[in-house]
Amino acid sequence: MSAIRLEHLVKQFGAFTALKTMDLTIEDGEFMALLGPSGCGKSTTMNMIAGMERPSEGRILFGDRDMAGVPMGRRGVGFVFQNYAIFTHMTVRQNLDYGLRMGGRPKAEIASRTKAIADLLQLSDLLDRPAQGLSVNILQRVAIGRSAVMEPAIFLLDEPLSNVDAAFRAVMRTELKHLQRQFRQTMVYVTHDQLEAMTMADRIAVMDHGVLQQVGTPLQVYNDPANTFVARFIGAPGMNLLKGRPVETPQGVAIDLGAAGISPVLPPPQAAAARSAKAGVYYGFRPEQAHLVSAGQGLALPVTFVERIGARSILHLGNGDTAVKGVFENDLRATLGETAHIAPIGEAVRLFDAGSGAALRGH
Ligand code: ATP
Repeated sequence: MSAIRLEHLVKQFGAFTALKTMDLTIEDGEFMALLGPSGCGKSTTMNMIAGMERPSEGRILFGDRDMAGVPMGRRGVGFVFQNYAIFTHMTVRQNLDYGLRMGGRPKAEIASRTKAIADLLQLSDLLDRPAQGLSVNILQRVAIGRSAVMEPAIFLLDEPLSNVDAAFRAVMRTELKHLQRQFRQTMVYVTHDQLEAMTMADRIAVMDHGVLQQVGTPLQVYNDPANTFVARFIGAPGMNLLKGRPVETPQGVAIDLGAAGISPVLPPPQAAAARSAKAGVYYGFRPEQAHLVSAGQGLALPVTFVERIGARSILHLGNGDTAVKGVFENDLRATLGETAHIAPIGEAVRLFDAGSGAALRGH
């Protein structure tokens, strides 16, 4: 069993608490992304799983086995870091099969496993090239291959793509997913890039300031963020969040959003949730789940910027507390300074408690 269980895990560096408490189970064969901004404790968590750091409190179990006191070399984990660590005086092949040779595997097995991993990572044509002089992109691919060829039951990757260029990163996302599907390792992948986490992971553990904020599938964290931090962090752009208070209108309960106007009427469960929030609410909706409506409907805000991003355009409305973005097709016509009317589509509205930031699950 290669499930990983983190139980009440805490890490302190002197007086500083890098990880406040972490309870997380990563299933056997699961691809789990640890996602969050710089300094949130992702690498610290990963280093404890690997055995490079000792937890201040709590337990780490692989299957039913407590890892306390088990050194890194005995944990059966493969580890790839942000900065590739390969032997530049060796060829690509010698780097790839290094671990197998050191482990004394039979020659035929070394050859077939090395060939399989080289094919998968598109390194077959480079096997006899010296590593020295190869690009960072290729070297990171070799580093991944060198760990993967050992077929570790647990594969830990800490920001492995952050130093490679953007086009290559997109290719590698697909390849890493293939690699994991093929070998069914339990994979833990540290990243601050929500797109990487969303495209590759089975589930995402979103972290901030040493605290686990939410664990869920990419769609769960996208559709139902547990709090305003996750709502903003997931998505590009993140979720629109406007502060307001519930008001009774002739059609039902809506949210008074101050300068942005009055929201469309809420369905009854959300209306009840909004009324219960004493500090008011954040009215949230995703920029890609909105449409432009006629005057008198939705939120009325001035156009502040139109960002053309290729296939789509991002319409920026309002600013400061009333800033809202909408993602639309490229045929969007908008004039700076004119008032646009925007409304979330049917089921897209999410409410959060303005005091705690926690989701008000009224849908
Ligand atoms: P990054 O992507 O920037 O590495 P991260 O989420 O992986 O971010 P960690 O590296 O886990 O963050 O660091 C979490 C916090 O713990 C940071 O504030 C960091 O400065 C601190 N920290 C990490 N290692 C040590 C250490 N050995 N001694 C003191 N503080 C540390």
